[in-house]
Amino acid sequence: MRIIPISVPTPFYIGPVNVYLIAEDPITIIDTGPKTKEAVEALRSGLRAAGFRVSDIRRIVLTHAHEDHCGLAKSLRDEAKNAEVLVHEWETGHRHSRLEYEEHRKLLERAGVPDAEIARLRRMYEGVRQYADSFGDNEHSPLWDDSDLTFESGTLRIVHTPGHTPGSCSFIREADRTVIAGDCVLKRITPNPVLSPDPVDPSKRFPSLAEYLVSLARIRSFAPTLVYGGHGEPVHDYDELFNRYIRAIQERQTQVIKLVSGDGASAWDVALKMFPGTDDVHRFLAVSEAVAHLDLAHNEGKLVLELSGPKEVYKAL
Ligand SMILES: [Zn+2]
Ligand SMILES: [Zn+2]
Repeated sequence: MRIIPISVPTPFYIGPVNVYLIAEDPITIIDTGPKTKEAVEALRSGLRAAGFRVSDIRRIVLTHAHEDHCGLAKSLRDEAKNAEVLVHEWETGHRHSRLEYEEHRKLLERAGVPDAEIARLRRMYEGVRQYADSFGDNEHSPLWDDSDLTFESGTLRIVHTPGHTPGSCSFIREADRTVIAGDCVLKRITPNPVLSPDPVDPSKRFPSLAEYLVSLARIRSFAPTLVYGGHGEPVHDYDELFNRYIRAIQERQTQVIKLVSGDGASAWDVALKMFPGTDDVHRFLAVSEAVAHLDLAHNEGKLVLELSGPKEVYKAL
Protein backbone atom coordinates (compact mmCIF):
# COMPACT_ATOMS: atom_id res chain seq x y z
CA MET A 1 0.00 0.00 0.00
CA ARG A 2 1.70 3.16 -1.20
CA ILE A 3 1.23 6.39 0.78
CA ILE A 4 2.08 9.40 -1.39
CA PRO A 5 2.20 12.89 0.16
CA ILE A 6 0.97 15.74 -2.04
CA SER A 7 1.75 19.29 -0.93
CA VAL A 8 -1.17 21.64 -1.58
CA PRO A 9 -0.97 25.43 -1.14
CA THR A 10 -3.32 27.28 1.24
CA PRO A 11 -4.02 31.00 1.63
CA PHE A 12 -3.37 30.61 5.37
CA TYR A 13 -0.46 31.61 7.54
CA ILE A 14 0.42 27.97 8.22
CA GLY A 15 1.45 27.44 4.57
CA PRO A 16 0.85 24.33 2.45
CA VAL A 17 -1.20 21.40 3.71
CA ASN A 18 -0.30 17.75 3.14
CA VAL A 19 -2.81 15.57 1.32
CA TYR A 20 -2.04 11.83 1.41
CA LEU A 21 -2.89 9.65 -1.54
CA ILE A 22 -3.29 5.96 -0.76
CA ALA A 23 -2.49 4.60 -4.18
CA GLU A 24 -4.34 1.34 -3.96
CA ASP A 25 -7.92 0.17 -4.50
CA PRO A 26 -10.16 1.75 -3.40
CA ILE A 27 -8.12 4.86 -4.33
CA THR A 28 -8.28 7.10 -1.26
CA ILE A 29 -7.12 10.56 -0.32
CA ILE A 30 -6.68 11.67 3.27
CA ASP A 31 -7.59 15.39 3.44
CA THR A 32 -8.12 17.58 0.40
CA GLY A 33 -6.74 21.11 0.71
CA PRO A 34 -8.80 24.32 0.77
CA LYS A 35 -11.31 25.37 -1.86
CA THR A 36 -9.04 27.46 -4.08
CA LYS A 37 -8.02 27.21 -7.72
CA GLU A 38 -4.35 26.83 -6.76
CA ALA A 39 -5.15 23.94 -4.40
CA VAL A 40 -7.17 22.00 -6.99
CA GLU A 41 -4.40 22.46 -9.53
CA ALA A 42 -1.72 21.25 -7.13
CA LEU A 43 -3.83 18.27 -6.16
CA ARG A 44 -4.52 17.36 -9.78
CA SER A 45 -0.86 17.52 -10.71
CA GLY A 46 0.10 15.47 -7.62
CA LEU A 47 -2.44 12.81 -8.59
CA ARG A 48 -1.27 12.91 -12.21
CA ALA A 49 2.35 12.42 -11.17
CA ALA A 50 1.27 9.26 -9.34
CA GLY A 51 -0.72 8.08 -12.36
CA PHE A 52 -4.23 8.99 -11.18
CA ARG A 53 -7.04 11.45 -11.79
CA VAL A 54 -9.69 12.93 -9.52
CA SER A 55 -12.24 10.60 -11.14
CA ASP A 56 -10.25 7.61 -9.79
CA ILE A 57 -10.84 8.64 -6.16
CA ARG A 58 -13.29 6.34 -4.41
CA ARG A 59 -12.83 7.50 -0.82
CA ILE A 60 -12.15 10.93 0.73
CA VAL A 61 -11.11 10.65 4.37
CA LEU A 62 -10.83 13.77 6.54
CA THR A 63 -8.49 13.99 9.53
CA HIS A 64 -10.61 16.94 10.71
CA ALA A 65 -12.93 19.61 9.36
CA HIS A 66 -10.68 22.68 9.21
CA GLU A 67 -10.92 24.56 5.92
CA ASP A 68 -7.36 23.77 4.83
CA HIS A 69 -8.04 20.03 5.20
CA CYS A 70 -11.67 19.58 4.14
CA GLY A 71 -12.31 22.50 1.78
CA LEU A 72 -12.36 20.57 -1.49
CA ALA A 73 -14.11 17.45 -0.19
CA LYS A 74 -17.49 18.24 -1.66
CA SER A 75 -16.33 19.29 -5.12
CA LEU A 76 -13.91 16.34 -5.38
CA ARG A 77 -16.65 13.98 -4.29
CA ASP A 78 -18.91 15.34 -7.03
CA GLU A 79 -16.21 15.21 -9.66
CA ALA A 80 -15.29 11.66 -8.63
CA LYS A 81 -18.94 10.62 -9.08
CA ASN A 82 -19.93 10.20 -5.48
CA ALA A 83 -16.78 9.00 -3.84
CA GLU A 84 -17.48 8.24 -0.20
CA VAL A 85 -16.57 10.97 2.32
CA LEU A 86 -15.58 9.87 5.82
CA VAL A 87 -15.18 12.06 8.89
CA HIS A 88 -15.49 11.48 12.65
CA GLU A 89 -18.90 12.28 14.13
CA TRP A 90 -17.46 14.70 16.65
CA GLU A 91 -16.09 16.82 13.84
CA THR A 92 -18.96 19.24 13.64
CA GLY A 93 -17.13 22.16 11.98
CA HIS A 94 -18.20 22.05 8.35
CA ARG A 95 -20.18 18.87 8.70
CA HIS A 96 -23.66 20.04 9.51
CA SER A 97 -23.96 22.76 6.87
CA ARG A 98 -24.11 25.07 9.81
CA LEU A 99 -21.38 26.51 11.93
CA GLU A 100 -21.70 26.70 15.64
CA TYR A 101 -21.71 30.47 15.88
CA GLU A 102 -23.97 30.61 18.91
CA GLU A 103 -22.04 27.98 20.83
CA HIS A 104 -18.76 29.65 19.92
CA ARG A 105 -20.03 33.08 20.89
CA LYS A 106 -20.93 31.77 24.35
CA LEU A 107 -17.53 30.12 24.77
CA LEU A 108 -15.76 33.35 23.82
CA GLU A 109 -17.99 35.36 26.16
CA ARG A 110 -17.17 32.99 29.03
CA ALA A 111 -13.47 33.35 28.17
CA GLY A 112 -13.87 37.11 28.75
CA VAL A 113 -13.49 38.17 25.11
CA PRO A 114 -15.11 41.65 24.73
CA ASP A 115 -18.22 41.90 22.50
CA ALA A 116 -16.52 44.08 19.90
CA GLU A 117 -13.72 41.54 19.63
CA ILE A 118 -16.20 38.65 19.26
CA ALA A 119 -17.87 40.56 16.41
CA ARG A 120 -14.48 41.14 14.80
CA LEU A 121 -13.50 37.45 15.11
CA ARG A 122 -16.79 36.46 13.54
CA ARG A 123 -16.30 38.81 10.57
CA MET A 124 -12.85 37.38 10.14
CA TYR A 125 -14.17 33.84 10.24
CA GLU A 126 -16.68 34.71 7.52
CA GLY A 127 -13.62 35.34 5.35
CA VAL A 128 -12.10 31.94 6.22
CA ARG A 129 -15.20 29.78 5.78
CA GLN A 130 -15.37 30.54 2.05
CA TYR A 131 -12.46 28.11 1.65
CA ALA A 132 -14.65 25.08 2.40
CA ASP A 133 -18.01 23.67 1.36
CA SER A 134 -20.13 22.36 4.20
CA PHE A 135 -21.73 18.91 4.30
CA GLY A 136 -25.20 17.83 5.24
CA ASP A 137 -25.60 14.95 7.72
CA ASN A 138 -26.41 12.39 5.03
CA GLU A 139 -23.46 13.27 2.83
CA HIS A 140 -20.70 11.48 4.73
CA SER A 141 -19.98 8.31 6.66
CA PRO A 142 -18.55 8.17 10.19
CA LEU A 143 -14.98 7.20 11.03
CA TRP A 144 -15.10 4.79 13.99
CA ASP A 145 -12.25 4.62 16.44
CA ASP A 146 -10.28 1.37 16.30
CA SER A 147 -11.88 0.13 13.09
CA ASP A 148 -10.12 -0.35 9.76
CA LEU A 149 -10.09 1.27 6.36
CA THR A 150 -9.57 -1.73 4.13
CA PHE A 151 -7.47 -1.70 0.96
CA GLU A 152 -6.57 -4.38 -1.55
CA SER A 153 -3.39 -5.42 0.25
CA GLY A 154 -3.70 -4.02 3.73
CA THR A 155 -5.51 -1.79 6.18
CA LEU A 156 -5.22 1.56 7.90
CA ARG A 157 -6.46 1.50 11.47
CA ILE A 158 -8.58 4.53 12.44
CA VAL A 159 -7.48 6.06 15.74
CA HIS A 160 -9.57 8.87 17.21
CA THR A 161 -7.01 11.44 18.41
CA PRO A 162 -9.02 14.41 19.75
CA GLY A 163 -7.35 17.60 20.94
CA HIS A 164 -6.63 19.89 18.02
CA THR A 165 -10.36 19.43 17.32
CA PRO A 166 -12.82 17.04 19.02
CA GLY A 167 -13.14 14.73 16.01
CA SER A 168 -9.52 14.66 14.84
CA CYS A 169 -8.46 11.20 13.65
CA SER A 170 -5.16 9.53 12.81
CA PHE A 171 -4.55 6.50 10.62
CA ILE A 172 -2.04 3.75 11.30
CA ARG A 173 -0.53 1.25 8.91
CA GLU A 174 0.39 -1.33 11.49
CA ALA A 175 2.64 -3.38 9.22
CA ASP A 176 5.40 -0.75 9.52
CA ARG A 177 3.83 1.52 12.20
CA THR A 178 3.42 4.50 9.88
CA VAL A 179 0.97 7.09 11.19
CA ILE A 180 -0.93 9.78 9.27
CA ALA A 181 -1.80 12.21 12.04
CA GLY A 182 -3.35 15.35 10.54
CA ASP A 183 -2.77 18.37 12.77
CA CYS A 184 -2.29 16.20 15.86
CA VAL A 185 1.44 15.95 15.11
CA LEU A 186 3.35 18.74 13.36
CA LYS A 187 7.10 18.73 13.13
CA ARG A 188 7.92 22.42 13.59
CA ILE A 189 5.10 23.76 15.71
CA THR A 190 3.20 22.66 18.77
CA PRO A 191 -0.35 22.13 17.49
CA ASN A 192 -3.01 24.40 18.87
CA PRO A 193 -5.87 22.85 20.85
CA VAL A 194 -8.64 24.94 19.27
CA LEU A 195 -11.47 26.25 21.45
CA SER A 196 -14.50 24.08 20.57
CA PRO A 197 -17.89 23.25 22.02
CA ASP A 198 -18.04 19.76 23.55
CA PRO A 199 -19.74 17.58 20.90
CA VAL A 200 -21.53 15.62 23.63
CA ASP A 201 -22.81 18.75 25.41
CA PRO A 202 -22.32 21.88 23.25
CA SER A 203 -23.07 24.16 26.22
CA LYS A 204 -19.69 23.07 27.63
CA ARG A 205 -16.30 23.46 26.09
CA PHE A 206 -14.25 20.54 24.95
CA PRO A 207 -11.35 19.74 27.33
CA SER A 208 -8.99 20.04 24.39
CA LEU A 209 -5.58 19.99 26.04
CA ALA A 210 -6.36 17.13 28.44
CA GLU A 211 -7.71 15.12 25.50
CA TYR A 212 -4.72 16.09 23.39
CA LEU A 213 -2.28 14.74 25.97
CA VAL A 214 -4.12 11.41 25.93
CA SER A 215 -4.01 11.36 22.11
CA LEU A 216 -0.26 12.06 22.02
CA ALA A 217 0.31 9.21 24.47
CA ARG A 218 -1.94 6.90 22.46
CA ILE A 219 0.06 7.55 19.30
CA ARG A 220 3.21 6.91 21.29
CA SER A 221 1.86 3.54 22.42
CA PHE A 222 1.98 2.40 18.77
CA ALA A 223 5.75 3.12 18.71
CA PRO A 224 5.50 4.85 15.33
CA THR A 225 8.49 4.70 13.00
CA LEU A 226 7.19 7.51 10.76
CA VAL A 227 4.50 10.13 11.35
CA TYR A 228 3.01 12.13 8.49
CA GLY A 229 1.57 15.42 9.77
CA GLY A 230 -0.97 17.78 8.27
CA HIS A 231 1.72 20.37 7.51
CA GLY A 232 5.48 20.25 7.03
CA GLU A 233 7.86 17.33 6.83
CA PRO A 234 7.29 13.87 8.27
CA VAL A 235 8.50 13.03 11.77
CA HIS A 236 11.01 10.20 12.08
CA ASP A 237 11.62 10.49 15.80
CA TYR A 238 8.22 10.74 17.41
CA ASP A 239 9.56 10.10 20.92
CA GLU A 240 11.77 13.16 20.73
CA LEU A 241 8.89 15.29 19.44
CA PHE A 242 6.57 13.87 22.10
CA ASN A 243 9.01 14.89 24.83
CA ARG A 244 9.36 18.34 23.27
CA TYR A 245 5.56 18.79 23.24
CA ILE A 246 5.28 17.71 26.87
CA ARG A 247 8.03 20.13 27.92
CA ALA A 248 6.40 23.00 25.97
CA ILE A 249 3.03 22.25 27.59
CA GLN A 250 4.61 22.17 31.07
CA GLU A 251 6.36 25.49 30.45
CA ARG A 252 3.09 27.06 29.30
CA GLN A 253 1.37 25.70 32.41
CA THR A 254 3.91 27.41 34.63
CA GLN A 255 3.53 30.62 32.62
CA VAL A 256 -0.29 30.80 32.78
CA ILE A 257 -0.31 30.06 36.49
CA LYS A 258 2.07 33.02 37.00
CA LEU A 259 -0.09 35.28 34.82
CA VAL A 260 -3.14 34.63 37.00
CA SER A 261 -2.23 36.80 39.93
CA GLY A 262 -3.95 39.29 42.24
CA ASP A 263 -7.70 39.48 41.55
CA GLY A 264 -7.52 36.74 38.98
CA ALA A 265 -7.76 36.85 35.22
CA SER A 266 -9.98 35.70 32.38
CA ALA A 267 -8.60 33.62 29.52
CA TRP A 268 -8.73 36.79 27.39
CA ASP A 269 -6.54 38.69 29.92
CA VAL A 270 -4.07 35.81 29.92
CA ALA A 271 -4.08 35.58 26.11
CA LEU A 272 -3.22 39.28 25.79
CA LYS A 273 -0.35 38.94 28.24
CA MET A 274 0.93 35.72 26.69
CA PHE A 275 0.76 36.97 23.11
CA PRO A 276 0.97 40.78 23.14
CA GLY A 277 0.55 42.29 19.69
CA THR A 278 -1.23 39.30 18.10
CA ASP A 279 -3.82 40.14 15.53
CA ASP A 280 -6.45 38.60 13.25
CA VAL A 281 -6.90 34.86 13.38
CA HIS A 282 -4.04 34.64 15.85
CA ARG A 283 -6.22 36.38 18.42
CA PHE A 284 -8.62 33.44 18.28
CA LEU A 285 -5.75 30.96 18.48
CA ALA A 286 -4.27 32.92 21.39
CA VAL A 287 -7.57 32.73 23.31
CA SER A 288 -7.83 29.01 22.44
CA GLU A 289 -4.36 28.40 23.79
CA ALA A 290 -5.03 30.38 26.98
CA VAL A 291 -8.34 28.58 27.65
CA ALA A 292 -6.77 25.18 26.97
CA HIS A 293 -3.93 25.78 29.42
CA LEU A 294 -6.05 27.43 32.11
CA ASP A 295 -8.55 24.55 31.93
CA LEU A 296 -5.79 21.99 32.30
CA ALA A 297 -4.29 23.86 35.28
CA HIS A 298 -7.77 24.10 36.81
CA ASN A 299 -8.47 20.39 36.23
CA GLU A 300 -5.20 19.52 37.90
CA GLY A 301 -6.13 21.63 40.93
CA LYS A 302 -3.51 24.32 40.32
CA LEU A 303 -6.00 27.20 39.82
CA VAL A 304 -9.46 28.16 41.07
CA LEU A 305 -12.24 28.97 38.59
CA GLU A 306 -15.01 31.43 39.54
CA LEU A 307 -17.91 32.94 37.62
CA SER A 308 -18.13 36.72 37.39
CA GLY A 309 -21.37 37.38 35.49
CA PRO A 310 -21.11 35.50 32.17
CA LYS A 311 -17.33 35.54 32.44
CA GLU A 312 -15.03 32.94 34.01
CA VAL A 313 -12.19 34.18 36.16
CA TYR A 314 -9.23 32.03 37.13
CA LYS A 315 -7.54 32.70 40.46
CA ALA A 316 -4.41 31.50 42.16
CA LEU A 317 -4.90 28.97 44.97
ZN1 LIG B 1 -6.44 22.06 11.80
ZN1 LIG C 1 -4.09 22.26 9.36
